[in-house]
Parts: sequence; structure tokens; C-alpha cells
Amino acid sequence: MMMHDFSYRGNELYCEKVLVRDIVKKVGTPLYIYSYKTFVEHLRKLQRAFATVRPLICYSMKANSNLAILKTLVDKGAGLDIVSGGELYRARRVGCPPEKIVFAGVGKSFEEIEDAIRYGILLFNVESVPELELIERAAGRLKAKVNVSLRINPGVDPQTHDHIATGKAESKFGLDIQTATRIFADKSRYKNLSLCAIHVHIGSQIVTGSPFVEAFRKTLRFIDKLAKQGTVIKYLNVGGGLGVIYDSENPQTAAQFARRILPLFKGRKFKLVFEPGRFIAANSGILVGQVLYVKQTQVKNFAIVNVAMNDLIRPSLYGAYHGVLPLKRNTRAPKEVYDVVGPICESGDVLAKDRHMQELHPDDYIALMSAGAYGFVMASNYNSRPRAAEVLVRGSHFEVVRKRESLQQLVEGETIPAFIA
Ligand SMILES: *Cc1c(COP(=O)(O)O)cnc(C)c1O
Repeated sequence: MMMHDFSYRGNELYCEKVLVRDIVKKVGTPLYIYSYKTFVEHLRKLQRAFATVRPLICYSMKANSNLAILKTLVDKGAGLDIVSGGELYRARRVGCPPEKIVFAGVGKSFEEIEDAIRYGILLFNVESVPELELIERAAGRLKAKVNVSLRINPGVDPQTHDHIATGKAESKFGLDIQTATRIFADKSRYKNLSLCAIHVHIGSQIVTGSPFVEAFRKTLRFIDKLAKQGTVIKYLNVGGGLGVIYDSENPQTAAQFARRILPLFKGRKFKLVFEPGRFIAANSGILVGQVLYVKQTQVKNFAIVNVAMNDLIRPSLYGAYHGVLPLKRNTRAPKEVYDVVGPICESGDVLAKDRHMQELHPDDYIALMSAGAYGFVMASNYNSRPRAAEVLVRGSHFEVVRKRESLQQLVEGETIPAFIA
């Protein structure tokens, strides 16, 4: 099955039914382009795979939080996994029902907690004892009864990049089983909270089922122990982390994942919650740039493009791989090996290394593939580069869903104080 809707027709790259070059002509580069159909299809794959248990699928919006994307997914039945007051604001802006929102993160502020309680979200995923106490206080002040899930750290190695592993014992995330046990034993202290859920999220870009199975087995043993002490778990939030294809990975499909983990939950009464981010967004977007210079040195060829680490930081941050495709393919052109690099004054500003591809020339357009997750959301203004525009394609239509930043916007909010005059 197609994993996305970006493909060549003849020798031209299309997104769904739209010629990518037509979008670029109108909107310019650097440019993120998203496929509506791919976003929806990836959500559907999970919905279908787990249809028998009717889980709550809360799209992890930190992967890509453009309002148009959120509205697309919420309209198709997704809830949202948020990690900040800003993300709560976005969730409200697209009218996400509060009973489909879960709130994670190790550093929620009192204001963020109060706002989320007022909106009436489903669950707080709690990561420490002081946080629990703060939520108790906020709930008391607002005279609310608040559902809490404890995020446990099962101490498993998800076999992924260190920066995106969150379920190891030494990670800052979650509570160890001993601490969580103590909290549940003490739960009558928390008059305004209902400790009715468990959360476990072990990391990201996990391509096999085994780390999940190991983590969920440990979690279920914990839930059984709690049951003996009279604690009923109503929700089990199994997090996100499903891996995708960037290069030559062979990740489990949603159906394979379901076959692997559903038997673990047979006969259980709790509702399953999922928080997929990358799985839904990664292959649903590309980042298009233009070649500025081709620079040959004695050891390398560099394609210097107008896209940089401020637009897409994953290669610099994690050594992540993104495929590079020319918008106009020429199968007869000679092949060359390039490092594709941006204009930023950092040697880490590399987008792709040692890529064997058709010869590139100034003004050629290239697409960085699978840039829909952790792409634009991590963009910055480093080197005073305005952030890229974002376009959503549906069928033969496309629309700018976030305007390119202007130079004016770059300095918005800055002032020059009188005392330096
Ligand atoms: C980032 C994150 C997710 C989403 O992870 P993906 O790998 O993008 O699916 C889900 N849950 C929590 C708590 C997260 O921090």
C-alpha cells in the first residue's frame, strides 16, 4: 500500500492531484506541503486496526500543530494530546471536545493546569509528586474533580535514538513503579483528584512491537497489583511512538501492531488511549527548497539550498534521514553525490549527507521527504530567517494554511529602549 500521496507522474512530483511546481510558483520556497489524504489515511489505519476496542486516539499535536491539520483530524474523530497551554489554545481554536483531550509533559505550570481544568479535559498525565499536588490544589480552587493518570516509566529500552527514548530508568519522564505504587496507596490524600488511569510512553520512532509488549506487560502487572488494593483503572494510555519509513526502515504496520498488542488487553475493562504523532504526520508532508549554488571542493560536492536547519532541524539534532527528491526528475541526467546543506553559519546545518542523485543545478527545486512531523513545529528564526509557509493539498485544491513570515514579523515585539539613545 502507498504510504503517502507524494509521487511522480511522468517526471514531475505531485502532491495528490496537484503539481508541486505549481504550488511553488505561487507560494515560493522554503515551503512545507501537506497532503490531507495522507493525514486522514494514517489516522484511519489506526482506527481500523483497533476498531474492535474503540480506543480514544489523541493525535499528539506537538508533531504538527497547524490549525488546518488539527481540524482535519478532529473532524475525523481524533482527540488531541497536548503538552502546553499553547497547545490547549490550539485545541480550543479547532473546537476539539474537551473529553477527547489529554495533557502530558513534565513541567505544567499552575496557569496551564487551571486553564485545562476549566476547559474540562479528560485526563492529566502526571509525571511527578509535586505536579500531582499542584493539580490537587488547582482542582480544589476550581471546585472540580479531575481525572489523573500516572505516567509510569517502565524502564525499557525502546531501541531508538537516545534523544527520543523516554521510557528508560534514567529518563526525566514518568514515575518509577515504586513511587507510583506509593501514590496510589496514598490516593485518599488527593480529595479533588480521581486517580483512575495509567499512562506509558516509552519513546518515538519505534519500529518493532517488542519494546511496546515489554512495557505493556509490566504496566499490566502493575494494574493487577493496584486492583488487589482496590484501585480501578478506567483508562490505559499507551502513548505514541510508532515508527515510520524515512529511509529503509521496515516498521510494523498499524494492523501488525494491533495483532501484537491487542491480545495483551483481552478481557480488560479499561478504555485504551493512543497518542500517535509521527505515525500520522511524518509521511504526510514534504519541505520544498531551491538550489542556490553547487559548490565543488576537493573532497565533496555541496548542494547549497535555501532550506536550512532553522526550517527542519531533525538532521542536525538527531542525524535524522530525509529522502531528497528533485521536483523535476531527469532519469537520463548524470548522477552525482551531494551533501545538501543550508545557508546557516553552523557546520551542523546539513539536511542530507552523501546522497547519490541526479546532477543538480542552481534554481532546481528539491523536496525533503517525510517532513510532516517535527518539521515546521521545530522551526526557528535563527540567522533571522523568516519561517517557511505551509500549504495543505486536498485532491486538486491547495491553500496556504500558514503565511510565510515577513521581515516585519521577525522584529515584532522588539523595542529599542530610550536609555541607550
Ligand atoms: C511526543 C509524544 C507522543 C507522540 O510521539 P510520536 O513518536 O510522535 O508518536 C505521545 N505521547 C507523549 C507523552 C509524547 O511526549
